[in-house]
Amino acid sequence: MPPVDSPVKPFIIPVFIPHAGCPHQCVFCNQQAITRSAIQAPSTAQIKASIRTYLNYLKPDRKPVQIAFFGGNFLGIDRREILRLLNAATSFVHEGIVDGIRFSTRPDTLTKDQLEILQGFPVSTIEIGAQSMNDAVLALCRRGHSARQTACAVHLAKACGYEVGIQMMVGLPGDDDAGTISTGRQIAALYPDFVRIYPAVVLEHSPLANWYRKGQYVPLSLSAGVSLVKKLYLMFQNSNIAVIRMGLQATADLANGSILLAGPYHPAFGHLVIAEIYRDRVVELLKTSTSAMEEVTLRVNPKRISAMRGLKNENIHYLKNRFHIRHITVTGDPLMPDHHIALMMDSEAVRLMP
Ligand code: SF4
Repeated sequence: MPPVDSPVKPFIIPVFIPHAGCPHQCVFCNQQAITRSAIQAPSTAQIKASIRTYLNYLKPDRKPVQIAFFGGNFLGIDRREILRLLNAATSFVHEGIVDGIRFSTRPDTLTKDQLEILQGFPVSTIEIGAQSMNDAVLALCRRGHSARQTACAVHLAKACGYEVGIQMMVGLPGDDDAGTISTGRQIAALYPDFVRIYPAVVLEHSPLANWYRKGQYVPLSLSAGVSLVKKLYLMFQNSNIAVIRMGLQATADLANGSILLAGPYHPAFGHLVIAEIYRDRVVELLKTSTSAMEEVTLRVNPKRISAMRGLKNENIHYLKNRFHIRHITVTGDPLMPDHHIALMMDSEAVRLMP
């Protein structure tokens, strides 16, 4: 299995600007609910205070550090306001305690004129919200842009030397598994530096909430969402594109159900995806075995033990039941390469699976 993570993971300090610069509300979105922030960009003093709080958690060896403007459409914001936000973040770069700035933005606002505003500021990374590469799905979701605009935005940002990430969603209205996989393929063909994959969930006070209540929208189940994101993850990995996030960031409001009506939310969604990949690998190894097994030992790198076991040992229970195994042991071995699985059945020799 190829590497799971991007080689250099920055320490990201988020600054939420809920719906700032958004021309309208996309059907699945309620940033106020997700970020628990007011619908207005924070003041400069608030931004600086929040950044300083995050910096307290910085480990001395953790580099690079980036300030990220998330939750809105950064390049759709009024020019003076963009400059205010960039200046607030840049002061930390000038102090030498932050390395760069990143933000998320819609593809249709990523234009040459808007990129000029960034000149002279230490912006290194732009995340483009594609969500889907199917124009019918985009229209149904009231995105207000086309797949072609996403492709143009990616090309432009890359040509200007920015690190480029693409955000996509699964389970959108009007989409299906084949369409989502097609979106993944088209995104991979754009060669972004990384992707984020978010399952659509039904958030209170979003247009999707009305559709859900009227029975006009049915979200993916958690297991279907995990399975679909797993396919995308493997596809991106095969294209050497890092997947830096799978699933919504866990928050107390999402967990307690106050804003989440339905949909494939799980605080450890990404872990569920990786665990299912590990389970599939072992199934591939075991499915040629016909007889019941007494003892199976799975050896993995110590940092992958939880992925091998699955959440609440689900992988262990699944494998035991499916293959009639009496006992499964998962052991950590620091000498095992990352993402390799060594398997020993009863007295049979070790099999390795990369
Ligand atoms: S999805 Fe992005 S562009 Fe659409 S409303 Fe939410 S923050 Fe704004």
